[in-house]
Amino acid sequence: MVVEIISVGTEILMGNIVNTNAQYLAKRLAHLGLDCHYQTVVGDNPARIKSALDVAYSRADAVIMTGGLGPTKDDLTKEMLMEYFGKIPVVDEKALHSLEERLKARGFNKMSEGLRKQAIVPADSLILYNHHGTAPGCVMERDGKICILLPGPPHEMQPMFEECCELYLNAKSDKILVSIIIRCLSKYEAPISIVGESPVADRLAEILDGVNPTVATYAKEDGCIIRVTAAGKTHEEALELLKPVVEKCRERIGEEFIKFVKEDTD
Ligand code: ATP
Repeated sequence: MVVEIISVGTEILMGNIVNTNAQYLAKRLAHLGLDCHYQTVVGDNPARIKSALDVAYSRADAVIMTGGLGPTKDDLTKEMLMEYFGKIPVVDEKALHSLEERLKARGFNKMSEGLRKQAIVPADSLILYNHHGTAPGCVMERDGKICILLPGPPHEMQPMFEECCELYLNAKSDKILVSIIIRCLSKYEAPISIVGESPVADRLAEILDGVNPTVATYAKEDGCIIRVTAAGKTHEEALELLKPVVEKCRERIGEEFIKFVKEDTD
């Protein structure tokens, strides 16, 4: 399954906040073995959100959207998506009750229309309850297309993704990705300059063309990184595939130029 990430919010587009949600989701998708070839940022504008969705669904099966679920007028993502997926808006009693309880706990009795609209969800969809905020997320499916809609605030979005979406997505993926990182010494630590990205890549030349595992090099301030990634049905299967390629990399680089070798669990 191919997934795209769409981050909704004029604040992101204008550079007022950093799009850490896309970074987080991209990492989690890679761990789940799901391909994600594009990320999009779009402002809080229904026509442009629709156009971003049209483009995404021309290339992917699923879209994960974050942001625009809140109580304010510019939070339009959910309304727009319900229309896009032809879903009837209904009040979710559990979400409404949770909103009322939160208000009561803060000493308020009257709920504004804006707050109430957060309890409106698409009918015939999977509702993702928000244990760290007010707006529930949801998963909508139609004609083989999937949309996972999550709140913008990272402290709400991340637990919702881990508690609800990973299981859902895992069932759609038939592989997981495991990466081993080999960090070379930096140019300040090594006596000779084999540690820059280009000499490292030269030493790994034909290994860099592998398909599973794949091998890639990255230049970092504190030394070049070699990332070896394998896809397997299980973690163990991926590790078995990684072993010989990691060994080959170690031989080619030379232990004396390697700082550490570890699984990327970040
Ligand atoms: P709220 O109920 O808080 O309005 P929301 O789902 O409507 O939530 P937004 O209004 O789009 O989300 O964003 C609320 C806040 O969440 C932003 O001000 C920002 O701090 C954070 N946020 C939103 N999107 C992102 C993102 N892509 N990366 C990092 N932080 C984000």
